[in-house]
Amino acid sequence: MIPTSFDYKKASSVEEALGMLGDDAQILGGGHSLIPALKLRLNAPGTLVDISKIDSLKVIRDNENSITIGAGVTHAEIAASDVLAQHCPMMGQAANAIGDIQVRNRGTIGGSIAHADPAADWPAVLLATDANVIIQGKNGKRTVDIDQFFKGFFETALEEGEIITTISIPKTAFNRNSTYVKFKQPASRFALVGCAAAVEMDGGSVKSARIGLTGVSEYAYRATGVENALAGKALNADTIASAVSGVTDSVDVMSDHYASEKYRSHLAHVFVKRALMNLSYSK
Ligand SMILES: Cc1cc2nc3c(=O)[nH]c(=O)nc-3n(C[C@H](O)[C@H](O)[C@H](O)COP(=O)(O)OP(=O)(O)OC[C@H]3O[C@@H](n4cnc5c(N)ncnc54)[C@H](O)[C@@H]3O)c2cc1C
Repeated sequence: MIPTSFDYKKASSVEEALGMLGDDAQILGGGHSLIPALKLRLNAPGTLVDISKIDSLKVIRDNENSITIGAGVTHAEIAASDVLAQHCPMMGQAANAIGDIQVRNRGTIGGSIAHADPAADWPAVLLATDANVIIQGKNGKRTVDIDQFFKGFFETALEEGEIITTISIPKTAFNRNSTYVKFKQPASRFALVGCAAAVEMDGGSVKSARIGLTGVSEYAYRATGVENALAGKALNADTIASAVSGVTDSVDVMSDHYASEKYRSHLAHVFVKRALMNLSYSK
């Protein structure tokens, strides 16, 4: 469990980090996914560029129409954020459900979505928030809609030499009425299945819903069939039961030594239902 040898560079700004990112270099955030991968020799970069001390990446900002979260903000800092609790409660719920206290104190939201583990919590939550991901490269900045960010198994829209700087969460009615529930793998606490749901109500019926799922398939996805089935309906046990029936219809459900395809699919139904029932009680 000893990594191959590598050079180590610590950056004090995003620009400095971009300059340090040569051909064989890799960004080091909180290290809670990368260091295990290095120890298992699944990864062997020549240089690690440590971005964990870049102050500009460690800020949660309350803006007029959005909350911006620096990529270097830790899970624990998100769990403790009052502004996120007020405008998007599922963020704090998800942060508190990640790993253990050491993981939450070191691991970052930017590192998590860059890594794109199929069982990670943030991908499902950010899909439900309708977030934007702001990415910086040597040629400038670009913004990627979260719906276009996750591309496959550990695969994202990030390109070589780019750094995620910020995640922007819109202040919306659906984010204020949101929840995250998950069935944990008991040792790592990664999600066997995790569901983030955000629902805007208009009078007694659903105006819009966004539902993100993780752990089910090779990468997190939105349950658009469920979202569409809920539109215009009351949010109650009957409408929810009918809407969730197709939650895994258009996805390849994973099967591994933790959970068979059939069991995961069952969990997906149970946890989407549970998330929506939580919101039905709170409306
Ligand atoms: C025991 C244990 C339990 C865990 N349980 C959970 C869990 O329950 N739920 C969960 O979601 N996660 C869990 N994790 C993973 C944890 O959340 C990681 O911290 C996270 O996935 C990666 O964030 P990091 O900051 O540690 O990134 P790192 O490990 O430093 O980096 C991960 C990858 O992202 C890249 N990267 C990092 N930051 C950036 C950036 N700003 N821009 C571009 N690329 C970047 C790195 O180059 C690397 O490829 C667990 C980890 C451990 C060790």
